[in-house]
Amino acid sequence: MMPAYPWLAESSQRLLALRRQLPHAILLHGRLGLGKFELAEAYVNLLLCENRNAAMTQACGACSSCHWLKLGHHPDFHLLQPGILDEIEATGSERKKSEWIGVEQVRDAIDFLHLSSHREGLRIVLIRPAEALNAAGANALLKTLEEPATRALLILVSHQPSRLLPTVRSRCHQLKLELPEFGSAMAWLAEQGVRDAESCLSLAGGSPLLAMTLANEDYQLRRRVLLTDLSSGKSAPVFVMAERYAKSDDAEFSLLLQSMQQWAYDLLAITLADRVRYHRDFSEQLHGLAEHVNLYRLLQWQQRLQQARRVGAHPLNIQMEMEDILLEYVAIY
Ligand SMILES: [Zn+2]
Repeated sequence: MMPAYPWLAESSQRLLALRRQLPHAILLHGRLGLGKFELAEAYVNLLLCENRNAAMTQACGACSSCHWLKLGHHPDFHLLQPGILDEIEATGSERKKSEWIGVEQVRDAIDFLHLSSHREGLRIVLIRPAEALNAAGANALLKTLEEPATRALLILVSHQPSRLLPTVRSRCHQLKLELPEFGSAMAWLAEQGVRDAESCLSLAGGSPLLAMTLANEDYQLRRRVLLTDLSSGKSAPVFVMAERYAKSDDAEFSLLLQSMQQWAYDLLAITLADRVRYHRDFSEQLHGLAEHVNLYRLLQWQQRLQQARRVGAHPLNIQMEMEDILLEYVAIY
């Protein structure tokens, strides 16, 4: 079944087998960059395809159902993700897109599930990422999981399933997508023509699709600039750096925090076990820095980064947040 990523073959088989007796809710979880959402979309497509049969592993791509999904408005499919309702509600104010899925969005989706379907078929709601459900949204969802609608399927996609309510998790059929072996991920990246695959894959924590993104030249350049600055240790140019990243968007800021988290991880790993996991190309600089690290402050800095990366914790002023984080960074030496 598509998507044709080799590491998804087993999960695809399990999803195909589930068609015989479809659960009310499926939770697809696993690391970022494995193609969970693509897999979920392909599954939805197959389940709704009008030409489907038990032997099919892929939607026909030609029927009206497949066509509607391609256009993004299928009458029996509802995608729930952060921000959509906020955009509609924002009336001229400068309200940012929400990072959360709110209770009104969930209620709309539940109403949708309880309608009788177009042509008596299945109705599907796909929630991504499920950890973006706020508390009220998660509780509303829980009610539906306890009293499921007939001929309805909920698919939750999550890379942080521990953030979901345990009661939500336990009412879903759970399917965990595993990271591929390092060697087979390397082989796949080589097939895609990714240069420097090894360092990208280490940086991506073993996730092949994330490694593809990181292999992008622009990203590589920005990464080297950041790591070179961090390599200056206690004389890192805090204010120049903070100004440089002041205009980052959410995704860029999140990647920035991730790079720094991995930098902190490597410093810690060298100090404790003399090994480098993420930044093998900066191994020499990291070893030099690790000699001067104050372990207690390094751990505090790690916590500070973790706190900054929480869902919904996007700062109003990135420049000030970066200054704050970097001032704590220079103080660990
Ligand atoms: Zn079709």
